[in-house]
Amino acid sequence: METILQQDHQNIVRILDKVKQEALVFLNTLEQRPTSTQNRIHPDRILEEMGYGSEVALDEFLERLLPLIVAQAGPRYLGFVTGGATPAAIVGDWLTSIYDQNAQATNSQGGVSALIELETIHLLRQLLNLPNSFLGGFVTGATMANFTGLAVARQWFGKELGKDFAKEGITEKITVFSANQHSSSVKCLAMLGIGSQNVIKIQTLEGDREAIAIADLEKQIQTLNGAPFVLISSAGTVNTADFDDFVAISKLKEKYRFWWHIDAAFGGFAAVSSQYKHLVSGWEHADSITVDAHKWLNVPYESAFYLIKEECQLLQIESFQNTNAPYLGNPLENFNYLNFLPENSRRLKALPVWFSLVAYGKKGVQEWVENSIKMAQLLTDFIANSSEFELLAPTRLNNVCFTLKGNEKQEKVSTFLETLNDTGSVFMTPTVLGNQKGIRASFVNWRTTEKDIQFITDIMQEVASKLK
Ligand SMILES: *Cc1c(COP(=O)(O)O)cnc(C)c1O
Repeated sequence: METILQQDHQNIVRILDKVKQEALVFLNTLEQRPTSTQNRIHPDRILEEMGYGSEVALDEFLERLLPLIVAQAGPRYLGFVTGGATPAAIVGDWLTSIYDQNAQATNSQGGVSALIELETIHLLRQLLNLPNSFLGGFVTGATMANFTGLAVARQWFGKELGKDFAKEGITEKITVFSANQHSSSVKCLAMLGIGSQNVIKIQTLEGDREAIAIADLEKQIQTLNGAPFVLISSAGTVNTADFDDFVAISKLKEKYRFWWHIDAAFGGFAAVSSQYKHLVSGWEHADSITVDAHKWLNVPYESAFYLIKEECQLLQIESFQNTNAPYLGNPLENFNYLNFLPENSRRLKALPVWFSLVAYGKKGVQEWVENSIKMAQLLTDFIANSSEFELLAPTRLNNVCFTLKGNEKQEKVSTFLETLNDTGSVFMTPTVLGNQKGIRASFVNWRTTEKDIQFITDIMQEVASKLK
């Protein structure tokens, strides 16, 4: 008798046709789909002895679980920094599952899909205008890209003191400077044993700025008397998308001994715009850079990449090599991603990015990046001219931070945001800036248009007027 699995295998054409139909229904109605839902399930489904096959599973999924899926990939989901998926990215993502590769090595032993990843990194360097002296690879998100960069920073720091922290463990306190690092970097410092509290906070520039005050940084450096340190800098802070001055930091790098990490999770894409690329000028002198692909590059989760200077390859291998697996060979001679980053087994994450870049080119990415900035500006203009809302900070790039106008409205900000999000027509996230409760709208989705902004501002107006 045929097993259910064998039947599924026989019926793969019909099954995939149904999946394609359902995918199209979702994609074609994404713009009308709510951005939040009151639907909930108890995650207590019983696992039956016998299965029902993919088609019945699909029916159950569509009926019971699909209603939980909100339009995170849609044009009016402005929470966190949430990208969508372009057609080319979906093509690459689907094929990644079909080919089911474990992207590791570049020699012929056990697959060469890592070559596709290296080619994709090469395309990304060109997109971002970064030199070939950066080597890179894909990880799940900017958190793990930060982890990878900071792990190598940790090893570098040890080596500066004549220690091998990867082998011996951390025996010396690691000095870390930062002004406005993302929470994921703090998490990485905890995971890496460096300690989340062991960050020395550098002052930020005066005014509404979140960027490092270079004068204060240099003052702090001088107290170290030549001792090494790690600098975590930002290309795009989450609230106001502020950028540290990379030209100034490059100059400090000529004078002082430090590992320079840049978290460019979304802000790195400023590099594709002639109008905004000055924001990252000088970043090519960093030691490690984090960039997310599932944000502004609009590929499906989970996709980010690190870039680390080639000259630091040995430190990277020391941090991540599988030391007691002789069958893997000498990591310097036999390139294998599993000796360069946290995960050993890994899917071919590069493929959706490869398809996106080949399908749309530099120009395509530039167009949707600049469109996001324009959308952020339209919302900003609305807020600046509104009697209900006010900006919490100037809009530098694609993130808008605002609040209800007037101090007396501070206690109503959360209610406003909850009511707004409950409409299911738009989704934004709360923030706090300069001790003021606020709201943050981040634009990175390729689908967002002026019509969406009109729609969003109408709803904001309506919800605000009912608050009184
Ligand atoms: C989103 C973000 C992160 C974390 O990225 P994940 O992809 O969620 O792991 C890190 N840094 C910055 C600046 C971010 O915007």
